[in-house]
Amino acid sequence: MAAQSILQKLEILADAAKYDASCASSGTAKRNSMGGPNGRGGIGSTEGMGICHAYAPDGRCISLLKILLTNHCVFDCHYCVNRKSSNVARARFTPQEVVDLTLAFYRRNYIEGLFLSSGIVKSSNHTMEQLVEVARILREEHDFRGYIHLKTIPEADAEMVHQAGLYADRVSINVELPTDSGLTRLAPDKNAAQIEGAMGKVKADLVEAKDARKRFRHAPRFAPAGQSTQMIVGADAATDSDIVGKASRLYDSFGLRRVYYSAFSPIPDASAVLPLKRPPLIREHRLYQSDWLMRFYGYKPADVMQATEPDGNLPLDIDPKLAWALKFRGAFPVDVNRASKEQLLRVPGLGVKAVGKILASRRHRALRLDDVARLTLSITKVRPFICTVDWRPVLLTDRADLRSLLAPKTEQLELFAA
Ligand code: SF4
Repeated sequence: MAAQSILQKLEILADAAKYDASCASSGTAKRNSMGGPNGRGGIGSTEGMGICHAYAPDGRCISLLKILLTNHCVFDCHYCVNRKSSNVARARFTPQEVVDLTLAFYRRNYIEGLFLSSGIVKSSNHTMEQLVEVARILREEHDFRGYIHLKTIPEADAEMVHQAGLYADRVSINVELPTDSGLTRLAPDKNAAQIEGAMGKVKADLVEAKDARKRFRHAPRFAPAGQSTQMIVGADAATDSDIVGKASRLYDSFGLRRVYYSAFSPIPDASAVLPLKRPPLIREHRLYQSDWLMRFYGYKPADVMQATEPDGNLPLDIDPKLAWALKFRGAFPVDVNRASKEQLLRVPGLGVKAVGKILASRRHRALRLDDVARLTLSITKVRPFICTVDWRPVLLTDRADLRSLLAPKTEQLELFAA
C-alpha cells in the first residue's frame, strides 16, 4: 500500500474524531505566549484571542485541532466507527507529526489548541505512551502554551495517566454508556469498574496537586481544567432518568468539570445490535439543559427525574424547567418581591442573571410586571408563575391547557424559501 501523505491522514483522523463531543475548552489556567524561560516567547495562549471556530458537517465544534493519533483499534465497541471489525480507511500519525500539525495550525491561527484521542493500538500502555509523548514534545521542546485536552485510556497504567495530566489542561475518560449492562453489551472489551477506577485516580491526583500548590508555589500543575467524560445517548435503552442519575453520581464521586452527552449517530457498517435511527438531537439538548439546572439552579437529580414523562424521558417539546413547574404548580405563583433566591430560580423563563437583578433591585423598590418583563425574553412564559405588585394570576397558573399555551410553537418551514 502506498504511504499516505499527512493530508490524507489528517482527512481520515479528523473525520474519525468528530464523534467525540467532549472537546469544549474551558476552565483552565490562563497562559500567554509572552516571556519564556530563556528570554524567548512561547507558542500559543489560552487567552481566547485569535481563535478560529470551525464546525463539522454534523454541527460539532472543532475549534481545537481535533484528531485521533490513530483510528486502528484492537477493541470492538459496537457504536464506534473505529472498532476493529469496521470497514473504514485507517491511518496513523507519529507523535512528531501531530506536534508539527498543531504548531503549524496554531501559527496560522486556525486553532486554539489540541484535542487528541486515539484508538487502542498494540496495547493500552503503548497508546497512552504515544499520547503523552505528543503533549511532552509540545510543552517541553516547543514551550507550547495553548490548550491541550488528552483523552486517556482507562486500561493504561495509572502512572502514564498521571503524566498526561502534568502536560494537559484537561484529561477525559469516557464512561461511554449510562449503564454497566449497556457497556457490557455494546463495548465488550471495556470494563465499567476500570473506567471509574481511572477517574478516581485522576480525582485523587487533582486534589493532591491543588493541595501541593497551596503549600508550594512551584508545585507542578495537574490538569488545571479538570477531568470530563462523555456518554452516548440513544444507543441503548437507558432513559433520561438513568442518564441524569449516572451523570450526577459521576459529578459527586469524581469532581468532574463536565459530562458531555453525545446523541448516538448511526455509523457506516453499523453493528446489528444498534438502533437504526439516531435519537432526535433535541434529546441531547434537553439533557444539557437538565445538567445546567443541576449545576447552576440548585435542582437535585430527583427534581430533574420528576420532570420526566412516564417513560423516564424528558419531554422534547418543552424545557425541563418548564416541565417541572407544570408538574408542581402548587409551588407557584411566587412573589417576586418576597420569594427566596431558590424559589425565583425555579420560575420558568428567569435565568440566573435575571434573578440576581431582581434580588438587587427589590431592595430599593417593589417590582412591577413591566420591571420583570425587561429582564426576560418572554414575559408570557414567566407570567403564570409569578406575582408582582400589579400582577396576580388567578386562574392562569392552574389552566389545563397551560402547557400548550407556553410550549414554543413549531413552525413548518417552506420548502422553497429563499
Ligand atoms: S476503544 Fe475507543 S476507539 Fe476503540 S472501538 Fe472502543 S470506542 Fe472505538
